[in-house]
Amino acid sequence: IPDVKRKSIGVFGLGLSGIATCEALAASGAKVFSYDENRAARDKTLDTEYRCEHPKDWPWQELEAVVVSPGVPLTHPKPHTIVRKARQENVPVIGDTELFARAVNALEPHERPRVIGVTGSNGKSTTTALIGHILKQAGEDVYVGGNIGEAVLSLPAFESDAVYVLELSSFQLDLTHSLRLDAAVFLNLSPDHIDRHGSVDGYLAAKRRIFMNQTAADLAVVGVDDDYGQSVSTRLMANTGTEIRLISAGSALGRGVYALDDKLYYNLDGKTAIAGDLTGARSLRGVHNFQNVAAAVAVCERFGVAPSLAIKSSQRFEGLPHRLEEVGRNGKVLFINDSKATNADATARALTAFNDIFWIAGGKAKEGGVTSLLPMMDRVRTAYLIGDASADFEKQLSDTVNVVICGDLEKAVEAANRDALKSDAKSPVVLLSPACASYDQFKNFETRGNAFREFVSTLSVGNGEAA
Ligand code: ADP
Repeated sequence: IPDVKRKSIGVFGLGLSGIATCEALAASGAKVFSYDENRAARDKTLDTEYRCEHPKDWPWQELEAVVVSPGVPLTHPKPHTIVRKARQENVPVIGDTELFARAVNALEPHERPRVIGVTGSNGKSTTTALIGHILKQAGEDVYVGGNIGEAVLSLPAFESDAVYVLELSSFQLDLTHSLRLDAAVFLNLSPDHIDRHGSVDGYLAAKRRIFMNQTAADLAVVGVDDDYGQSVSTRLMANTGTEIRLISAGSALGRGVYALDDKLYYNLDGKTAIAGDLTGARSLRGVHNFQNVAAAVAVCERFGVAPSLAIKSSQRFEGLPHRLEEVGRNGKVLFINDSKATNADATARALTAFNDIFWIAGGKAKEGGVTSLLPMMDRVRTAYLIGDASADFEKQLSDTVNVVICGDLEKAVEAANRDALKSDAKSPVVLLSPACASYDQFKNFETRGNAFREFVSTLSVGNGEAA
């Protein structure tokens, strides 16, 4: 990291990215002052060069910057004390991605690695991982990090011919100023993710920052399936010379990359061609994933991977755990773990991806319940309910679909498996897509998904006809 030798820098928040930041700064010769509100996190700094001290004891007059973790509120509902203090003292507040950007910018042009960034309300992790996968298959040296996987500052040091693919949340973008991405992707924006930005405008402004500092040599990829994407692309066209590639899942585009009727089309030079069939990628089911594939194809083409090749690669993509993840088969029954679906919106996307669904749902309910899913119940044979939400969900669903209250996940898996095997459906699917948070019965959505996988594996072993 350039220009930090013997300089004093505060690091607030000592999760994985905070610790990586302390280490990178210390290794670059900075004097690091660190803190976390959580005692256990503070203990991680014992016996290191970046020992914890309460921010009231930091040498504010000397501080060059305070690096805060992405979870620390900048504005909404109100700025965190550390942010207010830094503003009072005129000390810039930045994030780890900013330090990464400064390190890249300090390199000579011929030493500079290529950097790709992905943001959006939904699909960031999938698209980031997919771009990484396609480029790796094409023989590139690829490092994937940011909001997904490794913190940016724990990625291996820069190699000029490497490609860094970063998932960037709006929180991270808010704390970044110097980043210039060779390719920047804005997938979509859904206003129910407003979280700490306070307003849709603030949230959109943060996401739009993905295109900061881009030049005519760079690529901007913009999803235009929501109104926000439309306005982002219009503004970009007016303001920069950057090449813009529009993407869509569902609408034909005069220019860009789009999915229509299970095929991916592209038109980047005035001619429309088919890149390939989208149904061959088993870990990228559902129209929402077609948007992710379109984005990945638009980016990877720029990095020399032909769209048809990118589609072939995406068929070998393993997908991310807990997102429409195939976790087993028992005879004709396919088991899908979509534990990441903690609200009805996410479950709606899962339900559109299959037919003859034996659907496991429930947990700690979110506002609104599952009434928005009623129009999709023609795809569902039976709903198996678990957890706190069972009684409410039963009321909302039972006029439209068969409902069984199961209590816990293990019983739900057993019942759904039994019914699916007995049914006349040719390819029944047992789908865990809870439309609920997990914490009434599980620590988080990951432990819920892992438990599902466990139960499924004992089923298949027990019954001898596992495929
Ligand atoms: P993120 O990293 O933005 O949270 P993920 O790739 O982890 O996104 O996907 C999380 C969930 O969001 C998926 O399980 C799916 O329900 C939904 N999703 C994924 N991609 C999209 C998309 N392009 N548009 C809308 N929803 C999506």
